[in-house]
Amino acid sequence: MNIIIGVSWPFANGELHIGHAASSLPGDVIARYHRLKGNNVILVSGTDCHGTPTEVKALKENKSPKEIVDECHVSFDKDFEDFGISFDLYNRTDDEYHKKFVQEQFVKYYNNGYLEEKEEEQLYCEHCKLFLADRYIIGICPKCGSEIKGDECEKCGSLLTIDEVKETKCSICGSKTSYKINKNLYFKLSNFQNDIKFLLESKRNLWRENAVNFTERYLNEGIPDRCASRTLNYGIDIPIEGFKDKKLYGWFENVWGYVTASKKYAENNNLNWEDFWKNTGNNKIYLIHAKDNIPFHSVIFPSLLLATNDNYKLPDKIVSDEYITIEGEKLSKSKGNYITLRHLLDNYPVDSIRYYFSINNPETRDFNFTYEGFINSINGELLGKWGNFVNRTLQFINKSFDGKLINLKINETLENKLKELYDVVGKDIDNGDTKDGLSKIFDFINYSNKYFDENEPWKLAKEATNKCEEILYNCCNIILNINNLLKPYFIETTKRVEGYLNVNIVEWSYNRLSSVSLSKEINPLFIRYDKSVIEEERKLLNK
Ligand SMILES: [Zn+2]
Ligand SMILES: [Zn+2]
Repeated sequence: MNIIIGVSWPFANGELHIGHAASSLPGDVIARYHRLKGNNVILVSGTDCHGTPTEVKALKENKSPKEIVDECHVSFDKDFEDFGISFDLYNRTDDEYHKKFVQEQFVKYYNNGYLEEKEEEQLYCEHCKLFLADRYIIGICPKCGSEIKGDECEKCGSLLTIDEVKETKCSICGSKTSYKINKNLYFKLSNFQNDIKFLLESKRNLWRENAVNFTERYLNEGIPDRCASRTLNYGIDIPIEGFKDKKLYGWFENVWGYVTASKKYAENNNLNWEDFWKNTGNNKIYLIHAKDNIPFHSVIFPSLLLATNDNYKLPDKIVSDEYITIEGEKLSKSKGNYITLRHLLDNYPVDSIRYYFSINNPETRDFNFTYEGFINSINGELLGKWGNFVNRTLQFINKSFDGKLINLKINETLENKLKELYDVVGKDIDNGDTKDGLSKIFDFINYSNKYFDENEPWKLAKEATNKCEEILYNCCNIILNINNLLKPYFIETTKRVEGYLNVNIVEWSYNRLSSVSLSKEINPLFIRYDKSVIEEERKLLNK
């Protein structure tokens, strides 16, 4: 089967934070699982280079937008790589290949009547030479007279339209704004109301509940047409006469990045991109993102695909996570309640980060990241349960049996349970429920520790060596298979465990260990963290 997994594209604005870590990881877990299953996988994402946040950051730092984008792209790429997100291509939206493709789609829409001209008055800053989106406007609330940002008054709670706001100024430079006539092209999204309704009905059981609910609400309100052109300095040129001074709106071009990145990858690797993206009956498309991105993936992207009339397959799985909070508070860079992915990567083993984010993946409710929870999960679950099971089994064999076992009698009950585990964990991951899969693996690890404890092999080592070997052999067989089941989640310890066992498995299926001959040097998979780390880390927050 051919599988596309698209992880949402981070804006070129600052550093990757733990929200990006949480929302990209399920995509990688799903990709690694399908590769082990022998499917053809293309996992893509990239840097979203165009948009007001990037231009504002450039203005503030006195740099060009391209400089900002280049810096961000290099750091995003490196962070994702170190986090083990196994992108086949991590692209960027200022890539020429991407630009050319989306411009072609735009011309197609124009010729097919999906784009409509509209003239409207918009707030403009003469100094910045920008038409200002609402969130870049400061002014006075007409109801209570306090200063407000955008169209919502925090003081009296009034929701206003931007025309009601008094004494409007540009929030970037502080200059007074003026109205200026702006001519734009609108994409007729409303034409696709029925198609999206039909899509939702056909995928109701495959999409996350939040995606279903959000899309339903959107449909009930009626899908509005959407402005596709912007007056920005940095972006993709609109290839239509009369609009050549304008750029494509970010929402229009960035979702196309899934197609352009995977098409580019396919062409460079002798694959046919249409086997992945068109209706072939043998492909699957996953889109992975946080819930604020739902409408772009459940409504806008499918409409853009349909409007081409090119037989595109629409997304099968919308894996839209809830939010992440830190120590009970909203992520906020300005308030200092903010943790970069780089900070975690520089201070903790990558598998411990991947574990904590996966086991808490916000599938149905928000995930509250706490350092106490994180450190406890390393000491308790990773070191105390999995690390301990591996370590005590393998050390025992090295100490008492010189690393080799002769009695390889399989326990069929254990074997059947392991076989079953491949099915249930596989189903969870395939379904996008990566957290459930991991928690089932750890349930089995608990069960395995109990098996070890109840059989008390340490009492059998001298007088009943045959029985002792049998138990240890079955523990090794558990280690081999649990380690294999953990491969979508872990990227470092899994390699070490295979090294200890002298095996190398590259398939998602039960394997019976045919001999036991361990490596001489076995090191603990995880190290214990002192609890004082929790306080030290908390002090770094809110600064
Ligand atoms: Zn007010
Ligand atoms: Zn300004």
